[in-house]
Amino acid sequence: MPDNVLGLAPQGASASPRTPTNRLGELIRFAAVALLRLRRIGTVRVGFFSRCGYRRTFYKQDTEVVKLRNQLKRLEELQRHDAKIQELENSLKAIPAKLAATQADLTRVEALLTGERAQLTETERYYGEQKGQLEVDEQQAVGAKHKLAQAKNSKEYMAAQRESETRREGVASREAEIAKLVEAIENKKRLMAERAADVQTLRQSIEKDSEAARARMAELEGKIAELRGERDHLAKEVKPEVLKRYGSIRMRRGLAVVSVKNGTCQGCNMNIPPQLYNVLQRGISIETCPSCHRIIYWEEIMKDAGAV
Ligand SMILES: [Zn+2]
Repeated sequence: MPDNVLGLAPQGASASPRTPTNRLGELIRFAAVALLRLRRIGTVRVGFFSRCGYRRTFYKQDTEVVKLRNQLKRLEELQRHDAKIQELENSLKAIPAKLAATQADLTRVEALLTGERAQLTETERYYGEQKGQLEVDEQQAVGAKHKLAQAKNSKEYMAAQRESETRREGVASREAEIAKLVEAIENKKRLMAERAADVQTLRQSIEKDSEAARARMAELEGKIAELRGERDHLAKEVKPEVLKRYGSIRMRRGLAVVSVKNGTCQGCNMNIPPQLYNVLQRGISIETCPSCHRIIYWEEIMKDAGAV
């Protein structure tokens, strides 16, 4: 092989005699250069693979961010559903309570009416008694008048006159009492007629309200069932351990997933430690606020909606 093929032999060396020592030297140089070249190829290879690895790392990180963002979006949707379900359940619970309050009003007014009816019956009974008593009084007054007419002497006449006067006064006061009773009975009857009309109006309004309430309750129950279905579907898309954590935070805090804005937790308004803030900005893991223990995320992470 020519000496300069590999560019190893110095230009003048080809003229020198090929002694075994020279040949050995050439071989050593050849081997050295070949090694150098191999190393260069190796370096290139190492560089190439490391660049691929670099890309892979970035790709991996991007995928992680997208995965996390998906989880957070599902969690937020889950949270919105849970809040809505709770709101509707509260409205549902409030309906029977409201109806019960109106029903209690009706019962109270009906009891008043019953009491007044009993009073009226008692007044009417007393009126009947007084009317009977008046007849007795009138008979006694007539009797006193007879005695007066039949008086035989002035003593009897004086006594009969006193009795007659007393009887007349008795009749007059009884009549006055009866007149008062008649007025009271009329007033009571008028009042009761008004009350009875009010009770009837209230009863009709309650019936109407109950009907509307039943329709509203059925509507709410339908909506709740629909939301629950959607919620269960969403929950299946969240990792079980994340869902468990979400559930326990929600039980204690109500709001379980919050953003971190300018380093501040939007759930408790406390600052996030810088190291944790860095982790959040990397966006590859689910983290919780050290102060309120809610699930937190960096708000910018959620802005890239196209990646979902
Ligand atoms: Zn917090």
